Amino acid sequence: MKKYQIALIPGDGIGKEVIPECARVLKTLAKCYSKISFDFQEFDWGGDYYRQHGVMMPEDGLDALRNKDAILFGSAGDPDIPDHITLWGLRLKICQGFDQYANVRPTRILPGIKSPLRQCEPHQLDWVIVRENSEGEYSGVGGRAHQGHPTEVATDMSILTRVGVERVQRFAFNLAQSRPRKHLTVITKSNAQRHGMVMWDEIAVQIAKEFPDVTWDKELVDAATARMINRPESIDTVVATNLHGDILTDLAAALAGSLGIAPTGNIDPERRYPSMFEPIHGSAFDIMGKGLANPIGTFWSAVMMLEHLGEKDATKCLMTAIEKVTTNPALHTRDLGGTAMMKDVTEAIIKEIHL
Ligand code: NAD
Ligand code: MN
Repeated sequence: MKKYQIALIPGDGIGKEVIPECARVLKTLAKCYSKISFDFQEFDWGGDYYRQHGVMMPEDGLDALRNKDAILFGSAGDPDIPDHITLWGLRLKICQGFDQYANVRPTRILPGIKSPLRQCEPHQLDWVIVRENSEGEYSGVGGRAHQGHPTEVATDMSILTRVGVERVQRFAFNLAQSRPRKHLTVITKSNAQRHGMVMWDEIAVQIAKEFPDVTWDKELVDAATARMINRPESIDTVVATNLHGDILTDLAAALAGSLGIAPTGNIDPERRYPSMFEPIHGSAFDIMGKGLANPIGTFWSAVMMLEHLGEKDATKCLMTAIEKVTTNPALHTRDLGGTAMMKDVTEAIIKEIHL
């Protein structure tokens, strides 16, 4: 029997609602697969912790996570605390502290879900977007001076390193190679950004040589948004910098039906540290505390976690249950145009797992 040590960090807003639901689902799964079990440890980090302690998580918080097999994360973001504090103080601290340099976001239109794209059959949209997760535009390098004066300046410097670019592109080529279509689109902006993005392009040419069976193309990020809408079937695997990936994946999530469905994994491909799995949505202040949150994004993230842990049967069982449940419009939450509550969706998933 394999016992997995899983850290649960619900965080803020609807994160506190969807993570406990996900723990219930995983416990059910463990009951059905006697070969696995989960040992959950919950951490109360986030906005409330900040109000008490002045920090989003303890100074030595990473040490408490270091030996876990994986981390399930809800959301960081509090109506009364500036977003850059909640983001940098918790989520990015973990992503960067554990060098989870590949942010992986699968996008598909699940059965029963309507895409806002008028002419898109579900099979025409099947993407995995890899977002560089450790440097680029979000490296945190920059500063402000002369605050409040007319001479005030502020900079955010985008840092691209050869090591950082090579490793994320190699990861993406590898991922593309593992998918049936074996195609990678490298997102760039080397027409306007003539240093970092030009190096990014050059490195793509170099890494592509290691993967002769993978076809690839290059697309400017602005053109990529139009291509995602007009020719979704031309895209398979994508790799982008931190900022470009951030934006493209929200668009991808919306095109697949709802932000409430989309999952993500913050992966350390070398497995030196635990990887972290989370829905891509945030705290959703407008619906928090109402039981309206769609938990599917979190459940799908748990699927990614199980896959990362190498639990093939459990992965398949949970994904099949999710797809069964999305097929039924009576089980759609409000973000999908339905009237189901979060609990209804969880109960239905649990029932499907038992079948
Ligand atoms: P958001 O994702 O919280 O909400 C955007 C919209 O989508 C809202 O209308 C919300 O109700 C809806 N929505 C999101 N998830 C849903 C779900 N599971 N079910 C149903 N509806 C859902 O994004 P935002 O409003 O830009 O941000 C709110 C807060 O969350 C901010 O503080 C922001 O910094 C934070 N945030 C955190 C993360 C993260 O921790 N990974 C990601 C995005 C935003
Ligand atoms: Mn984002």
